Amino acid sequence: MSEQKHYDVIIIGGGVMGSSLAYSLTKAEDSLKVAVVERDPSYEKASTTLSMVNFRIQFSLKQNVLISQYTSEIFNRFEEEMQVGDSRPNIALCREGNLFLVDEASRPEAEKNLKMQQELGCDVTWLDPDGIKDRYPLYDADQYAGGTFGPQDGHFDAYAVLMAYKAKAAAQGATFIADEVTALKTSGKQATGVQLASGGILQAGSVVNCAGAWASRVAATAGVELPIDPVKRQVFALDPQVKPEGPLPLTIIGSGLYFRTETGGLLLVGKSKDDDPVGFDFTWDRKRFLEELWMELAEFVPAFESLKLVRGWAGLYAVNQMDGNALLGEWPELKGFYLVNGFSGHGLQQAPAVGRYISELILNKPHAMDLSVFDPIRILENKPLSEGGLV
Ligand SMILES: Cc1cc2nc3c(=O)[nH]c(=O)nc-3n(C[C@H](O)[C@H](O)[C@H](O)COP(=O)(O)OP(=O)(O)OC[C@H]3O[C@@H](n4cnc5c(N)ncnc54)[C@H](O)[C@@H]3O)c2cc1C
Repeated sequence: MSEQKHYDVIIIGGGVMGSSLAYSLTKAEDSLKVAVVERDPSYEKASTTLSMVNFRIQFSLKQNVLISQYTSEIFNRFEEEMQVGDSRPNIALCREGNLFLVDEASRPEAEKNLKMQQELGCDVTWLDPDGIKDRYPLYDADQYAGGTFGPQDGHFDAYAVLMAYKAKAAAQGATFIADEVTALKTSGKQATGVQLASGGILQAGSVVNCAGAWASRVAATAGVELPIDPVKRQVFALDPQVKPEGPLPLTIIGSGLYFRTETGGLLLVGKSKDDDPVGFDFTWDRKRFLEELWMELAEFVPAFESLKLVRGWAGLYAVNQMDGNALLGEWPELKGFYLVNGFSGHGLQQAPAVGRYISELILNKPHAMDLSVFDPIRILENKPLSEGGLV
């Protein structure tokens, strides 16, 4: 007989989502028995550690804006809140801003989103091409109508945030287990636990899928089909010969290419493409930058015609192929099985609000922020969220 252990909640995957959820659950109820099963505690392939780590207020879906507002606010006190004993994390928060370049054709949509964000109290403004040039003299924004600029957005150290959540959750009583979940255990229409690769079984009335890009594989072991695919995204680290005078915001130009400055005088560049391959492929391709992205970058920032490609990497977006937005909540056809999946390229910044929301769902507590719009029932009803997230 294999060993069986009992918990109140089992979390599959200990990336930023699983760890944030473990923190929120154990903060809400200190007697709760929470297990987080993570097969790779070095996080070599986790999206959390392969991300661009940008956070921004500029979304078109109101709930995504509210989530980011909460993140922006919580980051001001995150290090203090996550302190364990004498150990206080340093998340290296930088608020260099986000700038979305807007052409005439997309201006009405951008203005609509800007208005909605401003009505929610967000610090976002419109910059015309001269305003952009004043702030960022290296940019050639003449072909654009302008840009929407969120000065309080920025980036942070994702690994530090992850480790902070883990340490605090563990200090509050969560158990982190280095193992792989090979199957969900069910009884009728109820989740009852998980089977581990090491042979043991963990039992719980609530089992949460926080397996990131591997979410569909995990769900499939209980016959649950999710529209979530692992999609390869690449990031390139560049050393430009001409250094900008100060930090550059995460800047998104019309072609979809985005870049921001990184410590050490480096520049990070990426671009999501429709033909990015689906699958568990972590190879990166220098030709893609040299032959495709470099030209686009240098057209907008002529000073970046001279640069060195220092390195690159590939990670996986967990893409919800239905509408590009997250799936948050209990799967309607399997009681006790919760989904925290499908964050595409914006999950890192959503972890604080999502962890809190799912903990409230599991513990049946009132919601500090209503995120029911992300309920996975929309898959069964075939009702995509009308405003898309970014994939
Ligand atoms: C290149 C790139 C750039 C990005 N840029 C940004 C950005 O700028 N801003 C932003 O907010 N987000 C960004 N993201 C997205 C963000 O990184 C993710 O949405 C977020 O990290 C998802 O966290 P997660 O915990 O769900 O997944 P992960 O971090 O992938 O964690 C899932 C964990 O589950 C574990 N696991 C899987 N299956 C099992 C199993 N069967 N048993 C046990 N463990 C298992 C894995 O080992 C993994 O550690 C980016 C992602 C990539 C790839």
